[in-house]
Amino acid sequence: MYNLGAGGGQPRHWEPPPRGASWPHVMLNAFYLLGRGYRKEVHLSPGVVAWVDSGGFLYIRDSTRRLAGLHGSGGGPGEPERLPDDEGLVEEVLRVQEGFGADYAFTLDYPLAGSDGDARYRLWVTARNAALAYQLRVRSSTRLLIVLHYRGEGELRLLLGMLARELRERASLRLDEVDGFAVGGLVPYRGRPLYIVERLVEARRLLPRGAWLHVLGVASPVNIPLLYAAGADSMDSKTFVIAAAKRLWYAPLEEYLTGRLPARLEARGSRLRPADHCTCPWCAGFDTLDEMASEPKALALHNLHVSLQAARLAAEEPGRLLRLYAGRGGRLGAAARRLLELTRAAVSVWEHR
Ligand SMILES: [Zn+2]
Repeated sequence: MYNLGAGGGQPRHWEPPPRGASWPHVMLNAFYLLGRGYRKEVHLSPGVVAWVDSGGFLYIRDSTRRLAGLHGSGGGPGEPERLPDDEGLVEEVLRVQEGFGADYAFTLDYPLAGSDGDARYRLWVTARNAALAYQLRVRSSTRLLIVLHYRGEGELRLLLGMLARELRERASLRLDEVDGFAVGGLVPYRGRPLYIVERLVEARRLLPRGAWLHVLGVASPVNIPLLYAAGADSMDSKTFVIAAAKRLWYAPLEEYLTGRLPARLEARGSRLRPADHCTCPWCAGFDTLDEMASEPKALALHNLHVSLQAARLAAEEPGRLLRLYAGRGGRLGAAARRLLELTRAAVSVWEHR
């Protein structure tokens, strides 16, 4: 899905969305929505399914990410520090998500990355926040997806144990009664598909059978088939817009899989005719990639088109794509072969869905 994002030093997103671009689902975050109110102010048509992330990491005071101050809430100069372990913040985020009319909302997570020995505490905060959101929610049509952070099976078991206890005590719910889950904290590993695949297989193995599983933030076109094959039900991405800012043009997945093109090309200086390889309306407007490089918006929309196309293909034929990947070299090939091994060794992850 199209991730409207906000923050993290990425290029600004477009308001309203460009004409001719249509997407049935978008991802936003609560931080971005603070002070913006409703769908109309974000130029989101009523038919679009809105997924609203908490913007969790944006709340963490960090000298490299002073976005909290920029967005005028918490953590700004002279204001008290707001951390995800603050119970009040859980409610604040939830009210923004509900007030916006989110179809799906993600619980406020506490990333493990960079932690120094306080992983157990951070796992507990993530579990407590999820249960607290279920306890505090007032809008039942907003489905709440519980964000999970873990770096291996041991941490996931620990986290799910804490979550089960917190959910029972705070909301009288069992793990198999919640709306779904999302795996977070994978962005630093986006270039390591093997790591991502292993975490998703662990999630499929330990989560209740049939649970909805979203993957946050690592859905580049070449990763997408692996994410589906490893058991993801949905995913979001803003890599297409980040790549465009770097003047990178994504190859359509079939062009990459058949070896005709690398996964992405440097547009500047390239004489490749984009319309020879891609049927999107944006590629049709340029004679060469080099020309397209001066229009990052067109580049981004092309990249988005390729990402959505990859998602469609991967959802339709996960097995065929996985076998194609497994026959290739490099990190993607290694991840695909490992995934085939894991799914043969255990009960197939597809059977859990
Ligand atoms: Zn294109």
